[in-house]
Amino acid sequence: MFTNAPSKALNFFEFPSLLLTMSSGDRRDAAAATGEVKNGIVSGELSQRQLQPAGVVAPNQNQRLRLNPNKDHKPESYEDLQLDFSPSIFSSLERYLPPTMLGANRDEKVKFMREILLKYLPQGERTRALRHREYRQKIISNYQPLHRELYTMHPANFFVAPFLKAIGDNTEDSFRSIISEPSPGVFTFEMLQPRFCELVLAEVESFEKWVNESNFRIMRPNTMNKYGAVLDDFGLETMLDKLMESFIRPLSKVFFLEVGGSTLDSHHGFVVEYGKDRDVDLGFHVDDSEVTLNVCLGKQFTGGELFFRGTRCEKHVNTGSQAEEIFDYSHVPGRAVLHRGRHRHGARATTSGHRVNLLLWCRSSVFREMKRYQKDFSNWCGECFREKKERQRLSIAATKSELLRRDAESTT
Ligand SMILES: [Zn+2]
Repeated sequence: MFTNAPSKALNFFEFPSLLLTMSSGDRRDAAAATGEVKNGIVSGELSQRQLQPAGVVAPNQNQRLRLNPNKDHKPESYEDLQLDFSPSIFSSLERYLPPTMLGANRDEKVKFMREILLKYLPQGERTRALRHREYRQKIISNYQPLHRELYTMHPANFFVAPFLKAIGDNTEDSFRSIISEPSPGVFTFEMLQPRFCELVLAEVESFEKWVNESNFRIMRPNTMNKYGAVLDDFGLETMLDKLMESFIRPLSKVFFLEVGGSTLDSHHGFVVEYGKDRDVDLGFHVDDSEVTLNVCLGKQFTGGELFFRGTRCEKHVNTGSQAEEIFDYSHVPGRAVLHRGRHRHGARATTSGHRVNLLLWCRSSVFREMKRYQKDFSNWCGECFREKKERQRLSIAATKSELLRRDAESTT
């Protein structure tokens, strides 16, 4: 059944731009923008896109960015703001502000830096970024959160104690003590407290009620789910960023180092809903992520198992599965599954009840950049690995027969 994955399988990768690219793409460009300013000229990726040097894009002649950072200046924190670039980019860029701007208030600095950063995007992406920002602002200024305690990270209230301890100890042994790996590359562990799950479910319900009552048209989480909501769009972005940085990245650094696990730097966080009057199942696909966290929040349901069929690179996404790659997983509320985004999977029909899962697609801009220059992914793609082994086998066989031939020649 899975030797020819349905064409739907590629949707997340082929059409992510409709809904998903803003957070990853924009941040990638912005990261390059802060890292590559040399002598007022921006090199590398940016100049390929025919963008202007940093000094020129500033609004007026007296407001150019500095050529060298002011190392004595202590940048402000931008963590609490809903920005279209990562708060750390603003903090880094602040040291390059023109001397007259350094003493300005934070809002003025944000406005100035944002204008610069947006100029680094091609027009299409820039328009999309602006629209998405407006969309988010409209939601955030109109929707009243139900449980405000969800919007900032409170580890002791969110996570179960063994998970917190393992992350705190931060060693492979401590992780292994709470995590099981029932199939290669699929990790599962107890993660969320029941009360936290209930609060998120209630918050999502409240958000959807607001959507219905206000007739607000929301974007769904991805191209394959008709139901569910993007948590980042109604204010949970900062909390989910903390979740990725402090809890998922330490795990990924150990278990998914070869797909950028240690450099995860942006995320797409959402919930999906299955059951009667919701999505029923989810076709075979790969995620637009390096690492995916999938946690069941509840409620009561039957069915809805996840099925896994091995990790594949873009070129091999539709190849068959090996017996050892076939694995089914039944969701348990509070329990998390962590896997590579390129690990092919789908969800079987939720046959009764109502199931809600929280998804966090974690991305690494560094990994995506490096991937463009690589052809062999045998350290994570099952098929690249199989091909490599086969090449080695053939080469050994050829050497053997050559040696045998020489042997035979010398004895005659
Ligand atoms: Zn491959």
